[in-house]
Amino acid sequence: MNKAKIKEIFISTQGEGPFVGYKQLFIRFCDCNLHCDYCDTDFNSETGMEYSVDDLERKVKALKGFEHVHSVSLTGGEPLLWADFLNEFLPRINKPAYLETNATVHVGLKKVFDNIDYISADIKLPSSSGIKNSFEMHEKFFGSVRDAILTCAATKQYDCERQVLFAKIVFDENIKDEEIEKSVELAEKYDFQIILQPKMNGMKLEIPTPVIENVFDKFLEKHKNTRLIPQVHKFLNIQ
Ligand code: SF4
Repeated sequence: MNKAKIKEIFISTQGEGPFVGYKQLFIRFCDCNLHCDYCDTDFNSETGMEYSVDDLERKVKALKGFEHVHSVSLTGGEPLLWADFLNEFLPRINKPAYLETNATVHVGLKKVFDNIDYISADIKLPSSSGIKNSFEMHEKFFGSVRDAILTCAATKQYDCERQVLFAKIVFDENIKDEEIEKSVELAEKYDFQIILQPKMNGMKLEIPTPVIENVFDKFLEKHKNTRLIPQVHKFLNIQ
């Protein structure tokens, strides 16, 4: 049986992206393959707890309010580093799976795709994240999503239309036109919605509103399916 290192398990309200306001069960997995400059997540596996699939199933099903959650948010760290574990765990819980990923682990995505309902994929801008080769990794990731959708459509194993894909982009004043071009290229090629998320420092927006609006307009000119959604959980003061 597979095991995974998990940092936190809790029920709360989704505070980012198009599913904002839905009650979710959050499972925060340890470890990450990236080191973003703005990362404020503690994903250190040394302080995480090891769970077997049985242990985790028992734990989440016993949580007060589990029956009312809209979906299960798989977050981290990077949950796709635990793809084999997820494949064994997800079919047991009978809730939609909402994957929050840094969109760089294409091998993991291929493995779990059939068990995922919503894919919230980050596009890491080098200007804000410090990740230099992010667009190469994203190209492979979104290519894998498309391949998996095509395979599903060809084999009709299940309703592959159920999968929803969108990409979140955290940006600050340093965002470059070249990064907007590359992000839009990916979104047009792989047909997904872009969610712009202005970088925040605690409860405060780090960027002046006119700059935010200007960035939003630049995206909209090239990709109509773009929305601007700040982090809402910080205003609600929830986890
Ligand atoms: S991908 Fe997420 S968890 Fe990993 S370093 Fe970046 S912000 Fe932190």
